Amino acid sequence: IGEPSEQWRDYQGSPTGTDIECQGWRQEAALRMLNNNLDPDVAERPEDLVVYGGTGRAARSWDAYDAILAELRELGDEETLLVQSGKPVGRFRTHERAPRVLIANSNLVGAWDNWEHFHELEAEGKIMYGQMTAGSWAYIGTQGIIQGTYETLGALAREEYGETDLTGRVVVTGGLGGMGGAQPLAVTMNKGVCIAAEVDESRIDRRIETGYCQEKAADVDEAIERAKAAAEAGEPYSVGVHVNAADMLEGMLERGFIPDIVTDQTSAHDALEGYYPSGHTVEEADELRERDPDAYREASLDTMQRHVEAILDMQARGSIAFEYGNNIRGQVETARGVENAFAFPGFVPAYIRPQFCRGKGPFRWAALSGDPADIRRTDEAILELFPEKEHLRRWIELADEQVQFQGLPSRVCWLGYETDDDGLTERARFALRINELVADGEIAAPIVVTRDHLDAGSVASPNRETEAMRDGTDAVADWPILNALINTAAGADIVAVHDGGGVGIGNSLHTNNQVVLDGSELAAEKARAVFTTDPGMGVIRHADAGYEEAIEEAERSGAHVPMAEH
Ligand code: NAD
Repeated sequence: IGEPSEQWRDYQGSPTGTDIECQGWRQEAALRMLNNNLDPDVAERPEDLVVYGGTGRAARSWDAYDAILAELRELGDEETLLVQSGKPVGRFRTHERAPRVLIANSNLVGAWDNWEHFHELEAEGKIMYGQMTAGSWAYIGTQGIIQGTYETLGALAREEYGETDLTGRVVVTGGLGGMGGAQPLAVTMNKGVCIAAEVDESRIDRRIETGYCQEKAADVDEAIERAKAAAEAGEPYSVGVHVNAADMLEGMLERGFIPDIVTDQTSAHDALEGYYPSGHTVEEADELRERDPDAYREASLDTMQRHVEAILDMQARGSIAFEYGNNIRGQVETARGVENAFAFPGFVPAYIRPQFCRGKGPFRWAALSGDPADIRRTDEAILELFPEKEHLRRWIELADEQVQFQGLPSRVCWLGYETDDDGLTERARFALRINELVADGEIAAPIVVTRDHLDAGSVASPNRETEAMRDGTDAVADWPILNALINTAAGADIVAVHDGGGVGIGNSLHTNNQVVLDGSELAAEKARAVFTTDPGMGVIRHADAGYEEAIEEAERSGAHVPMAEH
């Protein structure tokens, strides 16, 4: 990928303020969001263009990064730039309402759609792993996932214990990377106790520095002791342990310590470049990967097998176990023949699907001014707009208090399709209000509204978002493609289609989009359309699969589903 570009060194994050270097705010927003993805405070390894999630990249090479910036600066208000696996490949005259940037990352044809072929092409510089928001320039750091993790754990408390939080419960997990690093804070926000294993000590330190994790323990014994004391006292508490997650879980079982809840967010989706095998330091493992990738992959899968078996053992002894979207079950089932790997559920069917049925998912926005006051104004706006939503109020207040901004100030919250008397969805109402605040000058510069690829109607991923669909359509990928097409038609400013996010190449297809709220009437029109079609896809996808909650939401909110059947 070459040496870090001079331009990137000059920026070291997104440009901010109200002066722009592109021809319009929609192009400028793309330039800022790309650079925000590569802000050293946001990305995990920006010098390698790696944003998060194993090797999720923002651009294919440093030359490609420079070329994208040059294209964005020249891009007219009636043109569309095409980006293919992190490289700009064409620019066409389209029209003003069309997207300014269309992105496709990591996609391969079915029979070739696997890591092996992907890695061959990647080594030749012909493809790039875009993960989810890395290659679509919508990553906002660990703050982006925090609410999803908070919501999942809150749903777990309600479903499993009939309680509103996790007071007195211990959650054991692994991985404190870009996404996994949100786990300790999401647990303590739910008033529980978290022990997290992480092989790379610098990641633990980073989470402590940024307020996501409270302490570091010298070893597993110390972590257990402190966690037990906090749980008994009913105090929220989180601790990172510098150890391989498989070793930690086995150690806990040997000591007879069975946590209330066990999960994992190591980068198990990629056995070669994400997950670390036991018995090696990070440096030794990195060296082994270079020298003998096959030996690395085998060692990594051996550790993953022990890891999954330990989770199953804890589950058999009373822990609530769920997979947190890293495909660790799929990896050991396929590569090691562990037949009962799927005996513990994924987090979507277990806790999130009812929200997807109503078009609810992680909706996020970033302030292009760089001014935290702009996000504070959006926080106020959301509370003014939805005063009846107590859960939302609690989230916004907690986030305001406890979530540090990384890069461009941003916020996440889960809003859905539910319409008001004027037929505006929750997401559209919010976006239109923000657009007004930008127009009135109450917010200094445009706000970009975007979302994770993990959303109600934007992803096919049989081991994660579409696991165990009621009608067996887990692997049907028409839905994300329709999602990208309808959002393009509706006028999103960036639309992206990726393969392999979260769970690895060949295991998922997913999309996202961005809409730039610059205060104009055009932005309002686009927002009204996109924030109806996008959550609406969640409702119709789940209605089609026979989910009663989705059919009811469609009826209540006027989403047209031609052949809906109760
Ligand atoms: P990341 O690559 O930034 O971090 C993974 C971390 O795991 C690294 O810090 C690494 O050192 C550590 N690690 C690897 N193997 C380990 C082991 N055996 N024991 C202990 N630590 C180990 O990735 P990320 O962005 O944090 O994502 C983590 C995983 O979660 C990925 O598989 C990703 O696809 C998945 N994910 C899930 C969701 C979700 O909503 N649940 C969202 C995004 C990503």
